[in-house]
Amino acid sequence: MKKLEEIKGLGPKTIGLLKKLNINNTYDLISFYPFRYDLIKRSDIRTLNQDDKIIIDGRIENIPYVVFINRKMNKMTFRINTGNNLLNVVIFNRGFLKSNLPINTEVTIIGKYDKLHNNIIASDIKFGLIGNEDRIEGIYHSTYGLSGSKIKKYIDNILPDIDVINYLPESVTEKYKFMDKKEAVLEVHRPTDMKVLSKARESLKYEELFVYMLQMNYLKLQKNKKIGIKRDVDYSKVNKFIEELPFKLTDDQLKAVNHIYEDLTKSIKMNRLLQGDVGSGKTIVAIISMYINYLGGYMSAMMVPTEVLANQHLINIKKIFDKYNINVEILTGKLKKSEKDKVTKLITEGKVDVLIGTHALITDNISYPNLGLVITDEQHRFGVNQRSAFKDKGLDPDILYMSATPIPRTYALTIYGDMDITSIKTMPSGRKKITTLLKSEKEIMDVLELMYQELKKKHQIYVVVPLIEESDKLDMDWIEKVEEQLNRAFGKYFKIASIHGKMTSEEKTGIMNKFKSNDIQILISTTVIEVGVDVANATMMVIYDSYRFGLSTLHQLRGRVGRNDLESYCILISNKETKRLEILTKTNDGFVISEEDFKLRGGGDLFGVRQSGDMDFKVANIKEDYQLLLKAKEDSLEFLKQHKNYNDIKNIHLRELVIKTSDLG
Ligand code: ADP
Ligand code: MG
Repeated sequence: MKKLEEIKGLGPKTIGLLKKLNINNTYDLISFYPFRYDLIKRSDIRTLNQDDKIIIDGRIENIPYVVFINRKMNKMTFRINTGNNLLNVVIFNRGFLKSNLPINTEVTIIGKYDKLHNNIIASDIKFGLIGNEDRIEGIYHSTYGLSGSKIKKYIDNILPDIDVINYLPESVTEKYKFMDKKEAVLEVHRPTDMKVLSKARESLKYEELFVYMLQMNYLKLQKNKKIGIKRDVDYSKVNKFIEELPFKLTDDQLKAVNHIYEDLTKSIKMNRLLQGDVGSGKTIVAIISMYINYLGGYMSAMMVPTEVLANQHLINIKKIFDKYNINVEILTGKLKKSEKDKVTKLITEGKVDVLIGTHALITDNISYPNLGLVITDEQHRFGVNQRSAFKDKGLDPDILYMSATPIPRTYALTIYGDMDITSIKTMPSGRKKITTLLKSEKEIMDVLELMYQELKKKHQIYVVVPLIEESDKLDMDWIEKVEEQLNRAFGKYFKIASIHGKMTSEEKTGIMNKFKSNDIQILISTTVIEVGVDVANATMMVIYDSYRFGLSTLHQLRGRVGRNDLESYCILISNKETKRLEILTKTNDGFVISEEDFKLRGGGDLFGVRQSGDMDFKVANIKEDYQLLLKAKEDSLEFLKQHKNYNDIKNIHLRELVIKTSDLG
């Protein structure tokens, strides 16, 4: 494994871009697998459609003809004879090849078939007749400024002499006749055959799932052995606190509070997942938990995914805690140095009871003298491997994970095997149902009319435009197109703005704040409307091309509206997969929806969360590969039983992994 800086031909700019994709060394680079494959058929022209990919060989029929379009661009055209056909080939900026292409040269042309004009728009010419076989082409993710094909080239350059890390024990590799890891990696990048490729991908998927399940199983086996803090807290005090809240807790909230109270007052360590739809009222449960922890004499930390959320929680939590003289502070990466120093000092002096913050809580070099409880909002961003962050600080607090993407219990038990689970299934009463409508693109005028009705009521609207994976460019075009459309319709009277991946976080926060203060009425964004953000006056969500999302994601997105007692709407625009989307028009129950989502196959949408801490798999997908996951669960459990002493583990990478896991807990 080498550093990126050691690879020839990679400049600092490219390295920066690669790091954005979480590629930090040569091993990460070769583990950056194609997300999709194109099969380019040895082309029989008759079966091809307009713009199909084509690979075909033939002999040059006439002397290539080159024209210069401008100083930077030329266009070369010639004819080839494929044995059955004469075809015109057009290729840009290869004029320099002309002298190497006399009549009768054997070439293979790769490109796109323009059926209308019987042309091939070529992307490449190779010498010799090598187009006889089908070709499988891996398609890689890109990032702004770095195309997938460039990344492919970097990978290709280092591929032959790379060392791979293999975590699978021999017994498992033999059991399933898996491919050797290095062969599998080569196949995935340079596919030779669909069957072999599929086998290679299966080996790699299995390895990821095995590693994940091994950690889960290990932690699960240890769970009840972990000794935690035993707090001495009188429930009547907790009860009094609950009674003084401005609303009555739902039964599910009370049940959750009871579970947590039990955990915190018993000597077993808490590791609990609290799941419930957006708006089901998890925050207040978190607040009560922190109160219990405070009564027990300990500090609480609440970690949330974004700056915006941290600030929002601070306001809400302070409101409740101020009258109890509980000191609440915030710590985020954006604090000025003087502010940060102040908070840090208070923390070390033990004067902070409740600390709210972003990842800075664990990344900043701060020690917490009396930390008893850590709560993470949106648990998927804080995975097994981050738990060590607090352990590294010498702490072993109780942990409560909160998640707004409910998943069916059977899946939850497998995937979060080492946690206890509490679900909030009922919403606080008084909440209005979100009316969800499904519209085709043709009905866009209807949609605009509905939007206008809301705007007239001085309400605000979220518009979501899905991220298109293949290219950032398309993505921007799409957003701009929608923004233009909405500006044409409403721009005269209402303010419209968009948030997208290329903005800095200050720019995003700036726009979010304007939306909150109603200086912007329509907010357009890709999927990333900050999780959990609360703008009560936003009563409508419009989602373009909604078939691109999984049901759970759509359900989460629409949870952004309907945050008070105003009538709220979600409009799904789609020309495809309307049957699937219809489920959302029929129910508002996140548990039912996720159950359906699991039943229906396809779609790369895992619980609505892509970048999910531990579950950020490179090839595996928990939903699609669930059967494989179950096998990995069994095999890893068996493996742990057979290797009670981890010094017996022969595979050193695996041994290190188990040792690392034993430190987490
Ligand atoms: P979640 O974090 O689960 O998405 P929140 O905790 O943000 O949901 O709750 C959404 C809103 O509902 C908040 O404004 C909160 O004050 C309110 N709320 C929570 N519980 C109740 C309840 N039992 N009755 C009435 N309102 C509630
Ligand atoms: Mg919340």
